[in-house]
Amino acid sequence: MQEYYRDTWAEIDLDAITHNVKQIKDLHPTKEIFAVVKANGYGHGDAEVSKVAIEAGVSCLAVSGLDEALRLRNSGIEVPILVLGMTRLKDVPLAAENNISLTAHDEMWIEHLVSLPLTTPVKVHLKIDSGMHRLGLMTEEQVQKNFNRLKMAPMVEVEGVFTHMATADSDKEYLGHQIETFKHLIASLDLSDVKYVHLENTATLLQKEFDFDHGIRLGLGLYGINPDKEFIPIEFELKPALKLLSNLVQVKKIKKGDKVGYGATYEAQEDEWIGVVPIGYADGWTRSHQGRHVIVNGYECEIIGRVCMDQMMIRLPKQFPMGTEVTLIGDGMPVERVAAEVGTISYEILCLISDRVPRVYK
Ligand code: PLP
Repeated sequence: MQEYYRDTWAEIDLDAITHNVKQIKDLHPTKEIFAVVKANGYGHGDAEVSKVAIEAGVSCLAVSGLDEALRLRNSGIEVPILVLGMTRLKDVPLAAENNISLTAHDEMWIEHLVSLPLTTPVKVHLKIDSGMHRLGLMTEEQVQKNFNRLKMAPMVEVEGVFTHMATADSDKEYLGHQIETFKHLIASLDLSDVKYVHLENTATLLQKEFDFDHGIRLGLGLYGINPDKEFIPIEFELKPALKLLSNLVQVKKIKKGDKVGYGATYEAQEDEWIGVVPIGYADGWTRSHQGRHVIVNGYECEIIGRVCMDQMMIRLPKQFPMGTEVTLIGDGMPVERVAAEVGTISYEILCLISDRVPRVYK
């Protein structure tokens, strides 16, 4: 367990990760699962989550960049790791030496890749842009030409072909259109010795009507969160793995008319009990949380005044002892609600929790 010396921490329930992997395996028993553990495992701790996910049946990992992949390799993880983003050509030998698979996302990049003087073969996944218009090749001609170019390169192994969905949690028609586009673009490729053909992210894999009979990339669902519960109702339970907790470090009574915080933006309407919570925007708890609520002893307490760099103040319904626990994300305050109230998505709230917040595993 990581040593820490402050009264704010993220508690990660690794049994919840195991539970979530098992639920997804039950839903997709024949598919290879890539656990998406980029951005430090969506803030949960990449190595810790990966190890548990692998034990629970995940066969591969996916990250955003080579640094993240190397960190996982250095922590002793041996399963295939795919870098989903672009890797600099000068770093390809390092990836190859560490058996890290790369995304081949662009015609020029591929042209240079196949002429690199590699001494260790590199594994690549060809990225196809089926409609999101981020990374990937777009036309049938480009796909065919570059697939063949990669296949013919002696130091390159085409391990995978994949695409990514733009609207899996918001527009089924466009999702269906992207899947059909992907199928069409890969129809003429000889995929017989390509190990992984994958397109499903959490929102896609939770909708069985969009089943695509290959690998899946499980991100948010691994951490126990449905990207949109109303758009994607499911019959089983995903367990959120992360709680963000703190303790009151000071409790005081202020008088009617007293002001709180930088800019003195809050004014007490009556004599009020307030508490100081040692978390702020340097922890990823941004100023946009002002006016929202946290949970103290079952009470919803408003965040009053501006969120500071390291601390914020809340209004209490009565006096609580110093040291009383505060739930920022967790029981009574799901991350989906937090995200909705600040006008963003759960992904962003989780990824923003900074390194300064200790992760405590249970
Ligand atoms: N695949 C790619 C290429 C991604 O960028 C992401 C997440 O951003 C995922 C898969 C995982 O998505 P989700 O967390 O929605 O499952």
